Amino acid sequence: MIFLEHKIGGGFVSFNNIIGNSKVKNILTKSINNKTILHSYMFIGEQGIGKKLIANQFAKMILCENFDINECNACKSCIEFDSGNNPDFINIEPDGKVIKIEQIREFQTKVVEKPINSKKKVYIINDADLMTKEAQNCLLKTLEEPPEYIVIILIVSNENKVLTTIKSRCMKIHFDKIDDEQIKNFLKDKCDVHEVSNNIMKMCDGSIGKCLQIKDKIEDYNKIENIIYNFNNSITKIINESEILYKNKENINEYLEYINVILYNLAISNTNNIRFINSIKVVENVKHRLASNSNYDMCIDYLLFNIWEEINEKNSRG
Ligand SMILES: [Zn+2]
Repeated sequence: MIFLEHKIGGGFVSFNNIIGNSKVKNILTKSINNKTILHSYMFIGEQGIGKKLIANQFAKMILCENFDINECNACKSCIEFDSGNNPDFINIEPDGKVIKIEQIREFQTKVVEKPINSKKKVYIINDADLMTKEAQNCLLKTLEEPPEYIVIILIVSNENKVLTTIKSRCMKIHFDKIDDEQIKNFLKDKCDVHEVSNNIMKMCDGSIGKCLQIKDKIEDYNKIENIIYNFNNSITKIINESEILYKNKENINEYLEYINVILYNLAISNTNNIRFINSIKVVENVKHRLASNSNYDMCIDYLLFNIWEEINEKNSRG
């Protein structure tokens, strides 16, 4: 999600410019209007659907000296926020794969310091589900007795990894996937991408984050789709036309995932679907081979040859 802000541009990002999740935006706007900001929120939903973007914007509104849901951008707090130097706004990110207890302890020493410019101080804990158990227990102390000026927003994609005691202290806000039409419009308006196949939309799965990851590789995605759709050709021809797979070791996991999406779509739209389901098994097998460092080119050979056999039903079956 981090890249999303950069892609949209350095300018002001109001709720109006963030697509999807209008229910969430309404709840948060109301709480600003009614001055009913709570101490702790948990933003829950899949990766890439705007949780962090909305949290940032919410933080900016809370800190704005004019407490403005519209585009203030003029007060000291807003200006400092946009330049990334607002002392009352702190972002906590995982240190490696987890958020450690030391990070939460450090946060707690800062929490007790009063805000500098604004009436409030906002902390966003990004990927809060990556907090260790110790870190979560430590955070609990602050959630139980928060200083009156503090607002903490926990961003979470896997709710199950968060202790119930933490969840019960937060206002839980669930984010929805973004619908395909909105994603298509976003790609058209912001990224100048006009043609997107249904398979690519399935791959995005309602996530703007994923769709931004994919958008510069649309051509590759289309080539891969072509390979799969032309599996009735001779195996030599297929191998010759699969350079995209042989030459993309660094993206192969993403591309294998995409092949699975295509095969899955073929399986649900064909009556004779066992060959596509078996092909998905081949892809999974190749993922394992790659993970255990098998020879890369041989893995791709295996992939193409075995899918070819499955799709053309060249295997003898009982
Ligand atoms: Zn302002």
